[in-house]
Amino acid sequence: MLEIKNLHARIAEDGTEIIRGLNLTVKAGEVAAIMGPNGSGKSTLSYILSGREDYEVTEGEVLLNGENILELDPAERAAKGVFLAFQYPVEIPGVATMQFLKVAMNEQRKARGEAELTTPDFIRRVKEAAEQLKIDQAMLRRPLNVGFSGGEKKRAEILQMALLEPSLCILDETDSGLDIDALKIVADGVNALKSPDRATIVITHYQRLLDYIVPDTVHVLYKGQIIRSGDKALALELEANGYADIIGEAA
Ligand code: ADP
Ligand code: MG
Ligand code: MG
Repeated sequence: MLEIKNLHARIAEDGTEIIRGLNLTVKAGEVAAIMGPNGSGKSTLSYILSGREDYEVTEGEVLLNGENILELDPAERAAKGVFLAFQYPVEIPGVATMQFLKVAMNEQRKARGEAELTTPDFIRRVKEAAEQLKIDQAMLRRPLNVGFSGGEKKRAEILQMALLEPSLCILDETDSGLDIDALKIVADGVNALKSPDRATIVITHYQRLLDYIVPDTVHVLYKGQIIRSGDKALALELEANGYADIIGEAA
């Protein structure tokens, strides 16, 4: 589903290379965890996949279902099913969460050349998704993220993810300082939305999150490259021994 081949990318402003020949394949149905020390380029990778302009790709390809997405702008990528959960969710005073979700869904439909959702159809979908994810409907009437607890922000994010039905989900939880309840919300959401036609990348510092989300594959990102891949046992090995051994072997 996702194939990243020899990706090189730098910061547009000053030309510093952050991603340095990265290769990664994530199959349909797979949940892949990306771990690695702070400053390795994990968040940068997620921004590049979603099409943020602050970075320039200088070499390599990113194929989603066989199509190179690097030429597409962020809205076009979203229409193709790329979803990036934001590490620091924005607060939108005056816009009910419900309204925000409707706009997000209709923007995606417009980009796909599909008709706008009717209000009853929209409400039905939101209700179904909220029930599946055990989200209280009262939250949906409040302005998006304003005064939300960490857990509520995560619920809003997972709900958005469910409604946009992405083919590639990227969740970057590295620096967000999630408490255990919020981690569980993210994990339950990822597990509930696991599907044969979806690939999910979970970026995390913490083995702890992987106690709840069982990844199919685990990849270590260091200095802009994947230096080791394995199954969930690799995450346990990292928890026990840290990154030093793996970094030493890669060097
Ligand atoms: P990680 O998520 O693995 O902790 P990041 O992708 O956030 O790592 O950052 C990788 C490196 O790139 C860090 O040294 C960071 O300071 C630098 N970096 C990333 N984006 C920018 C940017 N827009 N401007 C300046 N430096 C950046
Ligand atoms: Mg970091
Ligand atoms: Mg990060």
